Amino acid sequence: MSFYSTRGGACVTASQAVLWGLAKDGGLYVPSMYPQFTQEKIASFCQMSYQQVAERVLRAFLEDYTIPEIEVAVNAAYSVPAFDDAAIAPVKRLDGNIHVLELFHGPTLAFKDIALKLLPYLVRLAAAKNDERREVSILVATSGDTGKAALEGFRDVPGTSCTVFYPENGVSDMQRLQMVTTEGSNTRVIGVRGNFDDAQTGVKKLFSDPAFHQKMDSADKLPSSANSINFGRLVPQVVYYFTSYAALVNSGAVRMGQPLNYVVPTGNFGDILAGYYAKRMGLPVGRLICASNRNNVLSDFFTDGVYYTHRSFFRTMSPSMDILISSNLERLLYESAGRDGRLVKSWMDLLADCGSFSIGAQRLDALQKTFSAGFADDHMTAEEISRVFEHTGYLMDPHTAVASHVLGAYRSATGDHTPAVIIATASPYKFAQDVLAAVLGEAATEGLTAFDCADRLSAHTGVPIPRQIKELKSMPIRHRQICEKDGMEAAVFAAPQQENI
Ligand SMILES: *Cc1c(COP(=O)(O)O)cnc(C)c1O
Repeated sequence: MSFYSTRGGACVTASQAVLWGLAKDGGLYVPSMYPQFTQEKIASFCQMSYQQVAERVLRAFLEDYTIPEIEVAVNAAYSVPAFDDAAIAPVKRLDGNIHVLELFHGPTLAFKDIALKLLPYLVRLAAAKNDERREVSILVATSGDTGKAALEGFRDVPGTSCTVFYPENGVSDMQRLQMVTTEGSNTRVIGVRGNFDDAQTGVKKLFSDPAFHQKMDSADKLPSSANSINFGRLVPQVVYYFTSYAALVNSGAVRMGQPLNYVVPTGNFGDILAGYYAKRMGLPVGRLICASNRNNVLSDFFTDGVYYTHRSFFRTMSPSMDILISSNLERLLYESAGRDGRLVKSWMDLLADCGSFSIGAQRLDALQKTFSAGFADDHMTAEEISRVFEHTGYLMDPHTAVASHVLGAYRSATGDHTPAVIIATASPYKFAQDVLAAVLGEAATEGLTAFDCADRLSAHTGVPIPRQIKELKSMPIRHRQICEKDGMEAAVFAAPQQENI
């Protein structure tokens, strides 16, 4: 299998796609075909561990990795105690035929761990396969969770470094603390005076700037990406669609072959795109329901076929979805365009120049056969956290609650009560203040630190505080660097400013 660029150029191997992150023409790498899994093969996953299914899915895409290489990587990445649940991505029944797929049992308590625990292994193998001797310099823009997960994944991995840019005022207290306390001799964390789109656009610009590549090369460095624009991030996410389906067949919640709807809290469109890939590979996915917060650029897109970014940017209680330029949508657009890279490029040029593009009624129609969409603002999100907790005793983080709200609205509007999986993307304790306010009212959080809120939330709900949050309280801050949004390149080349080393 080869990998093409969504903008028409490139034909590279899997390991090259992983190593380089983004194609030289600014496009994203996409597989030349979707491997097909038969019903028998999917049924066989019911008897397999998470690691075994991961190996089957990965090797279907990563043809120039050997099976033993993949086995070793998967077993090293997905293990207890780094993950606090042996199932890695457990599925729990919420209510009726609604289930929750919990993706927050990894080291940083968000779903990014699933991909970013594995990616460093894939990158190191890719460097060796392509005779790459330069340091692989991972550059990351984060809306909150990717940063910490990438830092943990790449921390002290030989031959690599990891630099994270986060929007200075755009992440939760816990998210920021998680990042700025990161240890490791090869890590850097830099606040950007701007929002996530500024940080992401800045990183993407560096990747498509030949002068930047030249400068990095002179420093004996190869820039690469750990954002979900990297195909190596995407493929590990395909796995949990298969394992969750198998788990629900095992529990009798669905019969093998029966469709299952997935509702996905969406920002950069990586998680839900992995569900689309799983469907294309033969998994009986019914509808993929795209859930946005108040930055509802995607739910508008799936409603009228127009992607429109010249709108206000809102900071919400689900900051990991505060995104207007949703990178991975480009991979879906590539399919929508009939794999015509020139057409995708013309849309992306329009987006860059005019802030919008339209795919037209016919293409929209085709997408709507698979995708539905909706959104929840902060008020609806808080109400959903509270409603679900009162009704079921289950405590959701704000991102998950956005999805839960959107599923409810979808069911009322369509009457489609197909068994559904809500993807739970973060621990509620990463957003302790907002979750406490949702459950006990705004007044309950007054004068409390994020850690006090976590204590109070645990006392009230009986849901234990994860070890990682408790440990954070006493960890020294090691990263204080801040830069302007047009100063990111300079920051990459500036001397590291870590403290307390
Ligand atoms: C990153 C993230 C999302 C959005 O996932 P995408 O793949 O960017 O769509 C949702 N929830 C949480 C908690 C996240 O960290």
